[in-house]
Amino acid sequence: MGQEISQIKIAGDYARWTGIQQMPSLDYVCWHCNTEISSNEGYRLALPHSMYTSTDSSYPDMLKAGIYLCHRCGYPTFLLDGKQIPGVPFGSSFEHVPDMVNDVYNEARDCYSVNAFTAVVLLCRKILMHIAVEQNADPDRSFKYYVDYLEDHHLITVTSQDWVDRIRKVGNEANHQLIQNTQEEAKYILTFTSMLLTTTYEYPAMEKELN
Ligand SMILES: [Zn+2]
Repeated sequence: MGQEISQIKIAGDYARWTGIQQMPSLDYVCWHCNTEISSNEGYRLALPHSMYTSTDSSYPDMLKAGIYLCHRCGYPTFLLDGKQIPGVPFGSSFEHVPDMVNDVYNEARDCYSVNAFTAVVLLCRKILMHIAVEQNADPDRSFKYYVDYLEDHHLITVTSQDWVDRIRKVGNEANHQLIQNTQEEAKYILTFTSMLLTTTYEYPAMEKELN
């Protein structure tokens, strides 16, 4: 059954947006359903009229602004000046990762979407250490020890040594020093964590389902 753009599904029923306006079309990725869409419906931020009606084809998209509705899930996103709120959580979502781990992982993805990159690194460190201890590593050791442990016990499937070295470095830095992490560092460790969750929890559970 299809869904109209003006609706959001809540508890099995539909809530309707009212007074929807036609907007200048904008492309973005919906934070809620993670779909790349081009929407032209929502609620306009009243910029000067001349901006909306300009026929200049080089008119910058960044001046188009407002609350846009996703035509797949109906959820709103505020777009202004090339900024998007809420942003898109980075990385894949999982079905079979235990709740306790999955909740922290999703918190890290949310942090990424609001540019809280140091928080992403700290949360991913916790997850990686938790997984290592779950796989019988000693508790209360350094982050480097845990990455070494995961690697020595063949729990890391990445083939690139550079990659593992980099994670070791990024995670270790944030331990006791007050250093802000960059977007690139956050992206590295979040991608790495996602791969580890896939091989540790997701694939084994999917394999069980198939048997
Ligand atoms: Zn959506």
